Amino acid sequence: MHYSTTAVSLWKVVLSQIIFYFILEDFVFYWGHRILHTKWLYKHVHSVHHEYATPFGLTSEYAHPAEILFLGFATIVGPAITGPHLMTLWLWMVLRVLETVEAHCGYHFPWSLSNFIPLYGGADFHDYHHRLLYTKSGNYSSTFVYMDWIFGTDKGYRKLKALKSFGIEDDPKQM
Ligand SMILES: [Zn+2]
Ligand SMILES: [Zn+2]
Repeated sequence: MHYSTTAVSLWKVVLSQIIFYFILEDFVFYWGHRILHTKWLYKHVHSVHHEYATPFGLTSEYAHPAEILFLGFATIVGPAITGPHLMTLWLWMVLRVLETVEAHCGYHFPWSLSNFIPLYGGADFHDYHHRLLYTKSGNYSSTFVYMDWIFGTDKGYRKLKALKSFGIEDDPKQM
């Protein structure tokens, strides 16, 4: 009994830490990613990741080394301030990589998390980011959609979604 109670409380700690990391990472990533979309940094750093206008899973890790270091900060800041168990750190790293691979995979699967978790972005959300020129990209968040909504950087995406719901997304005269 004592063992199972301890196991449950351990999983509560792991789960709450992982959720906290996803929320914090999304917040830090959003601002770091917006900075990468300024003129000089985009031209010399972030344009490498944007070579693929229609990304696929592997392109999630395709970026300038400076970008890996810069945006990697968003991934490690949560564990750095909470000092998790090593297994939690590994679990977080695995989930974070799976999340970004799914966001770049180009498919909105029936089992995509965005179908089940409110405010989750997914492939459709990030695909839009890769489709447009650097000044108009929008959709800067890594995991969730609310940061772009709060700061108004998802207006183009939401407009496109609205057009799609009327079945006119492929008509250039309507765009
Ligand atoms: Zn970008
Ligand atoms: Zn991307």
